[in-house]
Amino acid sequence: MEVKEVLDKNNFNFKKKFGQNFLLDQNILNNIVTLADITKEDLVIEIGVGAGALTKKISPRAKYVLGYEIDKTLEKPLKEILPEENINIIFDDFLSRNIKEDISKYNYSNIIVVANLPYYITTPIISKFIDEKINVSRLVVMVQNEVADRFSANMGSKAYNSLTIFLNYYFDIKKAFVVSRNVFYPKPNVDSAVVIFNKSNKYKSSNEALFFKMVKDAFKQKRKTLKNNLKGYNLEQIDKILNQTGKNISFRAENISIDEFINICDNYCSK
Ligand code: SAM
Repeated sequence: MEVKEVLDKNNFNFKKKFGQNFLLDQNILNNIVTLADITKEDLVIEIGVGAGALTKKISPRAKYVLGYEIDKTLEKPLKEILPEENINIIFDDFLSRNIKEDISKYNYSNIIVVANLPYYITTPIISKFIDEKINVSRLVVMVQNEVADRFSANMGSKAYNSLTIFLNYYFDIKKAFVVSRNVFYPKPNVDSAVVIFNKSNKYKSSNEALFFKMVKDAFKQKRKTLKNNLKGYNLEQIDKILNQTGKNISFRAENISIDEFINICDNYCSK
């Protein structure tokens, strides 16, 4: 039975508040799953299962699929649409979950995240993997087209912030392709894009705890300089390290590169 028929049979109502625009185009679904490069050893996490179109394609390639869906009215239709044994769906708000605990029940080689994300919470969802230090090998996510470019924003641009730094610290980020709004039901007001985040070892700070804390603090108030945002730190020393690349603590965080933040933290002494 077609997904649409199952939803109709269950009197399913689309909920705008949950960003429910379901992807119907089989080619695009196939392309997303191909990009995810899933093996039979992998645990795939899918956020926002919806009517299960992506889940259905992921399941035969993965060892396990752990899906999250906030809309409990999808529980009944999804039982029918996704009878596959390697799929487990948690009907809850992904943002409220303890992901480490959820994944602790599985044995797998790699974690791959695949998701057609609800637009209004794209950033918190991606940040959650970083904040909770979940070891993800690859994320293939569909987001609003204009949001796609922000993930790899360059230093000095408006979109460059602490999340950009953390994402680029962990991942090589590439926009794979743009997806027209016409292939969703119901049709959204904007086009989407698929973005791939591949785990990378390009950057490595020898003091990661400080790196994460300092970057967050440095961007606390975006219009303020490092001198103002990093008041509790040894500013003299930060200034000295920055001078090596012709910068100083009167710069704003948006003008400091990832390498420069790493250099500060690797050479920083708090006294
Ligand atoms: N994966 C499906 C597809 O590609 O057709 C559905 C994608 S739809 C854009 C986003 C889905 O995320 C919706 O089914 C929505 O109910 C669900 N969702 C929204 N917020 C959520 C949250 N906080 N936690 C889990 N699922 C959520």
